[in-house]
Amino acid sequence: MTKYIFVTGGVVSGLGKGITASSLALLLKSRGYKIFMQKFDPYINVDPGTMSPYQHGEVFVTADGSETDLDLGHYERFIDEELNYTSNITTGKIYKSVIEKERRGDFLGATVQIVPHITNEIKNKIYEAGTTSKADIVITEIGGTIGDIESQAFIEALRQVRNEKGPSNTLFVHATLVPYIYGSNELKTKPTQHSVIELRSMGIQPDIIVCRTPVPLEDNIKAKLSLYCSVPKENVIDSVDVVNLYQIPINYYNQHMDEIVLKQLDLHQNTSNLEPWKKLINTVDNLKDEIEIALVGKYVSLHDAYISVAESLKHAGYKYNTKININWVDSEELEHIDNLSEVFKNSKGIIVPGGFGNRGIEGKIKAIKYARENNIPFLGICLGMQLAVIEFARNVCHIEDANSTEFNELCQNPIIDLMADQKSIINMGGTLRLGNYDCEIKENTLAYLDYGQKLIKERHRHRYEFNNNYKEELEKHGLVFSGINPSSNLVEIIEYPDHPHFIASQFHPEFKSRPTRPHPLFDSFIKASINTKKGKIKTK
Ligand code: GLN
Repeated sequence: MTKYIFVTGGVVSGLGKGITASSLALLLKSRGYKIFMQKFDPYINVDPGTMSPYQHGEVFVTADGSETDLDLGHYERFIDEELNYTSNITTGKIYKSVIEKERRGDFLGATVQIVPHITNEIKNKIYEAGTTSKADIVITEIGGTIGDIESQAFIEALRQVRNEKGPSNTLFVHATLVPYIYGSNELKTKPTQHSVIELRSMGIQPDIIVCRTPVPLEDNIKAKLSLYCSVPKENVIDSVDVVNLYQIPINYYNQHMDEIVLKQLDLHQNTSNLEPWKKLINTVDNLKDEIEIALVGKYVSLHDAYISVAESLKHAGYKYNTKININWVDSEELEHIDNLSEVFKNSKGIIVPGGFGNRGIEGKIKAIKYARENNIPFLGICLGMQLAVIEFARNVCHIEDANSTEFNELCQNPIIDLMADQKSIINMGGTLRLGNYDCEIKENTLAYLDYGQKLIKERHRHRYEFNNNYKEELEKHGLVFSGINPSSNLVEIIEYPDHPHFIASQFHPEFKSRPTRPHPLFDSFIKASINTKKGKIKTK
């Protein structure tokens, strides 16, 4: 039977609850348990797919094509398990489903209410995550902060789960802040006390309290929190600020957090294998070289909008013992800059990630042209691939007005066009080409060299595609279509062999990169960028 751990947050948002949940998950996985993770987001949107990246950061896409919160990216990177549609539940999703049931008449004339109908729906989602994953333990993070109006139905549902399953099958972790007051030089426990009081007023007594703090909690502070919050002293875990995020699971391990959890959940204390993780920490702490990579996008003022891309670059850097410094380049500003060599002066590679809409497009095309003409390693992702093709069509094949119908519906040469099955779609939510699709790789290409295999599966999130009517013309000028979806013939990867390293994919490789297993496309891109720094690749 699956056991359930719930992670709530108190005092302030942005405490790293997602990392707390992921770290505990990693510790339990390292003891041989099958772990699955889930996040509740109390907003009304059905999923973050329609939200602006400025509001929400990146939309993380799972293998089954769910558009989810970026915390799921942390989960997958920490526990290295594929998550799915049961992993991200919003208020919008819950209400949508309950209202559809009401319209169908499923409630047989009952008055539909928050308790029990909405809370039942939430509980079903928790149990569904357990039954479909067959995990030993499901860890559910509840977004927001205790006291938020939006999250009340979720908290009430958790209370009911504890009531149904009992304390040996459920466990509550409450993540809070213990601030340090400079001047009097002391840590303050009061905000945590109040947060726990608030949680209790909703019927939940936390089992473990994780305290974000700038300095380790001394014994007397832990004792005070234990007394006021009614948890054993050893169940007060400190989460000290760290430079290297991967250190956090080890900090929890040193405070026996996983042992405490397994004891309460009545599970065997299998031996823990954290060796691969410790090796990773050691690598990250001792990187010998560094390199600058330019990331050209329109949301660069919010780095979270590109979090998986930034992480994937770092993962590849670890493999080559190299720290990655990102040169965040605003594509819209680039449109007004003539001297690109100044912008990219120290950048040894240029990456153009995904995006939507017109703004900043010409700046990205300018950056791609610069990379192509100057032999700078280039990696394009999704929109980055579409723009690389447009740039090539315009500047190499002299198809002057080549464009995407996303930016100009009436353009004469729609090199990138709406996919046929997208033309009749009216709803914006959940209707992109999403999740895993096959890609067949051509032999004797850079892509084949990178992957070392013919058939791969990668995750997608797009509405437009390369227009195959232009394939022959572009091939004539040297562009290689090295990855194709075998059933639809959609272009998945393009590359330009008359360049040291120029490759782009319609899919998003960043969702599959892991700290101990960089993605092949990022791996070879960073390798080429390092070779550029070493002078092995000559730029112009
Ligand atoms: N806007 C493009 C499309 O919808 C690219 C999407 C993306 O980069 N994720 O096809």
